[in-house]
This record gives sequence, structure tokens and C-alpha cells, in this order.
Amino acid sequence: MAAQKGRLLILDDEPAVGQTIAYIAAESGLDAIATTRAPDFFRELDRWCPTHIALDLIMPGLDGVEIIRMLGDRHCPAHLIITSGIGGRVLDAARRSAAEHGLCVTGVVSKPFSPRDLRAALAFHPQTALPADNAIAPAAAFQVTAAELRRALNQGELDVAYQPSVDCATLALVGFEALARWRHPVAGVILPDHFIPLAESTGLIDELTEQVVSQSLVWLSRHFPADTLGLAINISPRSLLNLKLGDRALQLSRRQGIAPERLTFELTESSAMEDPVKSLHLLTRLRAQGFQLALDDFGTGYSSMRQLVRLPFSELKVDKSFVIGAMESRESRTVIKSVVDLGHSLGLRVSAEGVEEAETLAFLTSLGCVRAQGFFLARPMFGDDVPGWAQLWASRCIPAAIPVHSVPL
Ligand code: C2E
Ligand code: CA
Ligand code: CA
Repeated sequence: MAAQKGRLLILDDEPAVGQTIAYIAAESGLDAIATTRAPDFFRELDRWCPTHIALDLIMPGLDGVEIIRMLGDRHCPAHLIITSGIGGRVLDAARRSAAEHGLCVTGVVSKPFSPRDLRAALAFHPQTALPADNAIAPAAAFQVTAAELRRALNQGELDVAYQPSVDCATLALVGFEALARWRHPVAGVILPDHFIPLAESTGLIDELTEQVVSQSLVWLSRHFPADTLGLAINISPRSLLNLKLGDRALQLSRRQGIAPERLTFELTESSAMEDPVKSLHLLTRLRAQGFQLALDDFGTGYSSMRQLVRLPFSELKVDKSFVIGAMESRESRTVIKSVVDLGHSLGLRVSAEGVEEAETLAFLTSLGCVRAQGFFLARPMFGDDVPGWAQLWASRCIPAAIPVHSVPL
């Protein structure tokens, strides 16, 4: 497959600065368009679907922070590089605000910047060849009802998005996390936070989980049959008490010729600990059936070390709330290090999600975290888009582009 070029859209009120950025981007192999006014910027955004955006935060008569919010409202999937002459703390706050608006911040470059600084921010762009329409937009103000959800499950509107997970040290693709999506005929694609709680409270969650397991196994066996690539599936606390879960998953994986060892069930910390006796029984059974078990969102629940030791997990997944802001927060880095050390001392594989920056990946690697997932590497994408992405990833990911310097705790 021919590699598509990345597209950088620039908004900077100073034409000379915009042109300089465009020039440096061209040297880095990206096509670039520089704009100086918000209407031109948004017109190009809609027309050109850039893979990267360079945004000046402070522009007379223009509010870069407001533009960040507007990009967030549009669920813009491009890598965002924030440029500005203002101090580090404001830049950091803007970066956090952008991340909280769901944007993928690849770099923050203080002005005046050297070509080297900008090149470093642009250097790692394995996602640039993703189809521009790969963004997954949640519905705006959509009221979900149980009847609608039941209808959706019956009519096959439930779909699955796959987020790649990579080996920290080599950047090789190691697997995917299956994430439920509802393709609503009117509201568009709805994210799981809008319907999983309802599925749980209305008893539809087992049916939903079964559809996710079955669809994702069919997908995996179609696209990656002979591979060792893994598949992680989220399990609700409610389904944890469903003894049929393992049997059904085993039946479905056999039907698709997928070894159960390739499947990981992800459970959240609190759900896994709620009923220790039942959890121990069910989780042990799943492990005996050959499945892997990950303790998801680790660090956010009220964990008991005793339960962690008792329950047969094979993986600890550091919660993204620590990972997303790790480079700005010494406290988050300390928590991550403790979790990684704890996982290692218990003989568990440690993975992290929410990797939004190259530096975070370097930091995690330096701690010995083995797997990473996050917008910096790849966003969740629908099944048909994954094989093309995987091919590009294998041919274009350049480990040398990841800074190897260690980040102080
Ligand atoms: P989760 O299991 O923690 O899944 C990771 C979530 O973090 C996903 O959101 C993913 O898109 C997002 N994410 C990944 N990397 C980054 C990053 O770098 N930055 C940021 N800001 N976010 C990142 P999504 O797909 O909206 O899923 C939300 C939650 O819904 C999941 O959180 C999981 O708890 C639940 N969920 C999704 N699918 C299922 C399912 O099939 N069954 C159940 N029971 N729950 C599901
Ligand atoms: Ca998960
Ligand atoms: Ca998680």
C-alpha cells in the first residue's frame, strides 16, 4: 500500500511564523497549509482533514483556548501541536485542557522555537496515513433508553472499535482492545460511556458482552488468524457473576479457531474486588480455561493488596488518568512507578493506557512497562480500517523517533 503523506494545518496570526512552520513540516515529509484567521482554519479543517494541527495559543483577536474547545466539540482526531510565546504553566494548562477535550496533543513548542524543536514534535507521525474519516464521534445530546438499546442489540447496531496495543520497547503491535460502539441510525456513533451503564442496570449487559466477544473473535480470525496478536475485552462487574461467560467465550473462540490464550478479559479494580469469594471462583475458572485476565484502571479503585494477591490476574493496566498527565505531574509519575514495581514484584505483565505523548512512552519504557496503548500510538478504529493501519505501522514505525532520554521522577 502506498504511504499517504501527513497533512499539517497551521493557525498562526503571524504569516511569517506560519510559513516557517510549513517549511519545516515539508522538510519532515508533511504537506502543510498555513492560515492566519479562524474561519480559514476551520474551512481547511473540514475540507482537508489534516492529520496534524499546529495552533498558536495567543493571537490578537483570536482565542486559541476557545479554538481548542471547538476542536474538541468536533472530536478532531488530528495530532495537535500547541505553539506559543507564553510561559510554561499556561502552556501546560492548555495542554491539559486540550487532552480533557479529547484531543491528542503530540507536542507543546514554546516560541521562539528552533527548527529542531518543531521537527521533534512532528517527528513521530505513524498515524498520518490513517483514513481521514477514521474519527469516531459520540452523539451530542442523545437520550438512550432501554427499549432503544434492546432494539439496537436485536438489529445488529452494536459494533466494535479496536485500539492497538504495542510493545513499549520495540513498538511492535501486540494486540487490540475491543471497545463497544453503537452505530445509531439517527444519532451516529455513540460511545460506550453513554450506554454501558444502562446495559448494566437493565440486564442487557450479558447480551452486549456476548455480541462484543462474538464480533471481535470473528474479526480477529478473519484478519489475523495465524497471528499471536491478542484481543482484550472489557467485562462488567455484572457479567463477572455470570458463570456462563467463560463457557460461551470458549465455545466462540473454538468456533473461530482462536486459542483462548490470545484473549484477555479486562476487569476494573472495584468490580473485581466486590465479592471476593465469587470473583475468586469465576476468575480462577476463566484462567483455567486458558484466558488471560487484566486488572483494568489500576490505581483508581479502593484496592486491597490482599485481593490483588488472591485473584489470578495476569496483567495490571495502569489507569489512564495517571498516564495522560504523567509528564506534567511528578505525583502521577510516582504512582506509575509504584504500580509498575508492584506488578513486577507480583509477576504480572504491566501495561499502560492513555499514552498521548512520546515522552510518556519513553518514561514507561524506562520503568519496564511492557505494553502501551494511547492516542499517541493509535486511536480506536473500526475493524475494516485496522489491517491497513497494521501494515503501515509495521512499515513506518521508527523506534528511533522515540526520545530515549529518561524522565526524572
Ligand atoms: P477502558 O476500558 O478504560 O478503555 C479505554 C478508554 O480510553 C477508551 O474509551 C479509549 O478510547 C480511551 N483511550 C485510549 N487511549 C487514550 C488516550 O491516549 N487518551 C484518552 N483521553 N483516552 C484514551 P471508550 O472507547 O470511550 O471506552 C470507555 C469505557 O467504556 C472503557 O474504558 C470501558 O470501561 C467501557 N467499555 C468499552 N467497551 C466495553 C464493552 O464491550 N463492555 C464493557 N463492559 N465496557 C466497555
Ligand atoms: Ca479496558
Ligand atoms: Ca482502562
